[in-house]
Amino acid sequence: MQQPIPFSQPKRHRSLQARVSWGDQVVTVGGDAPVRVQSMTNTDTGDAIGTAIQVKELAQAGSELVRITVDTPESAKAVPYIREQLDKMGVHVPLVGDFHYNGHRLLTEFPECAQALSKYRINPGNVGKGDKHDKQFAQMIEAAIRYDKVVRIGVNWGSLDQELLARLMDVNASRSSPWEAKQVMYEALVTSALESADLAERIGLARHQIILSCKMSGVQDLIAVYRELARCTDHSLHLGLTEAGMGTKGTAASSVALGVLLQEGIGDTIRVSLTPQPGEARTQEVLIATEILQALGLRTFVPSVTACPGCGRTTSTTFQELAMQIDDYLRYQMPVWRKQYPGVENLKVAVMGCIVNGPGESKHADIGISLPGTGEAPAAPVFIDGEKALTLRGENIAKEFHDIVENYVQKKYAIQA
Ligand code: SF4
Repeated sequence: MQQPIPFSQPKRHRSLQARVSWGDQVVTVGGDAPVRVQSMTNTDTGDAIGTAIQVKELAQAGSELVRITVDTPESAKAVPYIREQLDKMGVHVPLVGDFHYNGHRLLTEFPECAQALSKYRINPGNVGKGDKHDKQFAQMIEAAIRYDKVVRIGVNWGSLDQELLARLMDVNASRSSPWEAKQVMYEALVTSALESADLAERIGLARHQIILSCKMSGVQDLIAVYRELARCTDHSLHLGLTEAGMGTKGTAASSVALGVLLQEGIGDTIRVSLTPQPGEARTQEVLIATEILQALGLRTFVPSVTACPGCGRTTSTTFQELAMQIDDYLRYQMPVWRKQYPGVENLKVAVMGCIVNGPGESKHADIGISLPGTGEAPAAPVFIDGEKALTLRGENIAKEFHDIVENYVQKKYAIQA
């Protein structure tokens, strides 16, 4: 082999940078900023306390922007109260207002709502029809200018501007070789975003304060549309597979779609639009988004736990339980550890099932444990910083390994006085 194999890494972003802020909290989006994680509540925004609690949970899970529905006068009235409750709890995450149909009225009639939000999401397909469209769109952009807010022009294929689509269908019909209907749909999505951004700029909104998105529910559709969008504009892009679905299907589809685009440098904020399974926490969408970014090596949010899948050499569930306990424990500690132990998110822990790959993988981690597989001596060597440090035996291996991890974190990451 004549040349070293080049490292695989995501490309650099090349977009403009928006500043989404609340008080001293500024979340930069695009440019050289890290890819941001966004989420959305599913509470009734009129229930200010319930919404504030869910926003706090999402923020603590790692969401750097949280979107809330603002669809009625009651919800618009609740927004400043939600903001106040969050500030009292010390949660300064910027809030994004999601507007459809009546955003122009709500942002005009409820100035405290317009002020308390840090960013407005405007869907150009749901702004108004005919000659009302541009007027109502302008009212929302003028509110953003007045209160110095960022705007996301969020096109969605489920609510695409039908007048624009009809116009582009006519253009297509006059082509000597008409495009397929789906390609005209792609064109309409991108055109809707770009024309709306252009209109917002002409009204007076700063170009860098405009973020664009064109969400679709098909993985290949999303990839095709975002590649074109990124080719056509330097606006920051919000990325998400809309209506991704539930559970493993939604997780896999979002991971594939976002992973491909992020690897190409496309996407400045992401959201995983997962339908929660009954009883599932809303924070699940945030965890998946952070895992996608961490898996790509774009960001680090929590210590990583490397665990083998197990095989015929692990006939007990001991190592699965230990891997899960350690993973849960590390996540549970993170809200506190993040402040106490800067850099702890880079910690790497390995929990392995037997001697085949256990010692090797454990040596690559900061701390690793190789549990005994079936037929092996009942001993679990622990490796710290690549060296075998001790061997655990007996019934309390899990508890002792927890203590070792805790001590390691305290020693390595504690802020020096
Ligand atoms: S490390 Fe051992 S237990 Fe784990 S998958 Fe490999 S062979 Fe199986």
